[in-house]
Amino acid sequence: VRHLVVVLGDQLDPLGAAFDGCDPARDAIWMAEVAEESTHVWSTKMRTALFLSAMRHFAQERRADGWTVHYRALDDADNRGALGAELVAALTHLQPQTVRLTAPGDWRVLQALRDAATAAGVPLEIEPDRHFYSDVRAFAAWARMQPELRLENFYRHLRRQHRVLMDGEAPVGGRWNFDTENRAPFDVQGPGAIPPPPQVEPDAITREVLELVRTRFADHPGGLDHFAWPVTRAQALHALARFVDERLPAFGRWQDALWPEAPWLWHSQLASALNLKLLRPREVVDAVEAAWRAGRVPLAAAEGYIRQILGWREYVRGVYWTRMPRYAESNALQATGDLPGFYWTGDAPMPCLADALRQTLDLGYAHHIQRLMVIGLYAQLLGVAPAQVHRWFLAVYVDAVEWVEMPNVLGMSQYADGGLMSSKPYIASGRYIERMSAGSYCRRCPFDPGLRTGPQACPYTRLYWDFMLRHQALLDANPRTRRQVRALERLDAAERATIRQEAEQWRAGPWHRRVAPEAPA
Ligand code: FAD
Ligand code: SF4
Repeated sequence: VRHLVVVLGDQLDPLGAAFDGCDPARDAIWMAEVAEESTHVWSTKMRTALFLSAMRHFAQERRADGWTVHYRALDDADNRGALGAELVAALTHLQPQTVRLTAPGDWRVLQALRDAATAAGVPLEIEPDRHFYSDVRAFAAWARMQPELRLENFYRHLRRQHRVLMDGEAPVGGRWNFDTENRAPFDVQGPGAIPPPPQVEPDAITREVLELVRTRFADHPGGLDHFAWPVTRAQALHALARFVDERLPAFGRWQDALWPEAPWLWHSQLASALNLKLLRPREVVDAVEAAWRAGRVPLAAAEGYIRQILGWREYVRGVYWTRMPRYAESNALQATGDLPGFYWTGDAPMPCLADALRQTLDLGYAHHIQRLMVIGLYAQLLGVAPAQVHRWFLAVYVDAVEWVEMPNVLGMSQYADGGLMSSKPYIASGRYIERMSAGSYCRRCPFDPGLRTGPQACPYTRLYWDFMLRHQALLDANPRTRRQVRALERLDAAERATIRQEAEQWRAGPWHRRVAPEAPA
């Protein structure tokens, strides 16, 4: 073997940079399924199954293209269980002249593979990942010129640079941002009929993987009954086309809305295909812009969607790679609580949270506002240690890979990075959930979103006021939250004391006694 091309589970692109200059006649591909990737956080069965099935399909397709693929299966009798150990063994056995790798998404994996190549004495060539619009060096250079990091500025910079939704030097439609047209709440009628997203029927490879995961990871959380995720590039392209045709037109408007037992709404569910590299962000952005230019979707929907991919997705990657490894330790609010055990079962006493958790465990999916303003918000208001929240989010979603999950959790959701990712903590009372779901959850709830004290107080509302009292100085110093914190002035000393005391009782109450299995003892 001349070059051994390492392909990781989230690098399933045959045009990936590691393949540059390689030739199936002289070079070979190496891939490995290892238990460590499912156990370093307690991964749901759904997340593990998606990775394994997509990897097996990719290996099969490359063999059909004429490649030799050295593939380590999870159930190979002598599988060493860790990526680094497997790579050392492969390099020792195959003795390639070089090992080639597209830059991994995760810091931990990069260290492990570097160490493995050094241990085996084989030169390692790492190619920058051109899947993204922006590389990490370009992000760092941009960031150095900024007085403070803000998504909006980076997004505009990339739109200009890559000529996305531009009309000469100006943004199309004369505005960069259509947030005011997007993000409407539902009214009491709810979402009405939503085009069902495509469901991929498990084929023989996927069925074998489902069986393997069911037995091998029997004690891992979540189910597999609803597995229907794209596992090949062709399926991912089909899912993209269906999204653009059917759901994109209403995407922007209802981007932030919530409704019970409606997990998909008008979201694209393309994050897992993008993160596994079955899809390329440029083809997604180009398809969305083309749909607008052809008059098939409103500009607000196209801009709202492109902002997520060209803006947020690129931005979080820059934050991750310019701040790791210290970023993982972030805990600006000094939160030390344990994650409640019901995060792993869905058995929460609040219907809004229970719905979002159950669907996460059943489908491997929750949309952005469920992640941010229902699941993440509760952990933040409760005061859970951010590292525990991060480990949970990394374990449960089919699209969870650390470079995108960590800044979203530690930065956007928990404000643990002190304002690097978002300019203010995303905090709200139960009134927010009530408004965005037209009261549909609250009507079936034993609690009242308008009450902050007393036995019927909504847990979100109760903990929101307690959070404001606990972090009053910080919120007062931030112009974006100053108005929110002004409301505290209306509370007299007695009510403040009641809020704090009842919040403490709620925290110590029976629902929170059983903590997440991974929480430190
Ligand atoms: P859509 O709503 O259809 O959005 C379109 C696409 O934009 C997504 O597919 C995704 O690629 C991108 N996108 C949207 N928002 C973001 C964002 N904030 N950061 C980066 N990309 C974004 N996204 C992940 O891909 N993996 C994660 O592990 C992940 N964890 C998250 C944890 C928390 C606490 C929060 C608040 C957000 C997280 N996100 C994560 C971002 C976002 O919630 C998901 O990308 C989205 O919900 C996936 O569903 P979708 O494909 O239907 O997205
Ligand atoms: Fe959720 Fe509070 Fe509404 Fe109950 S009252 S559904 S806990 S927001």
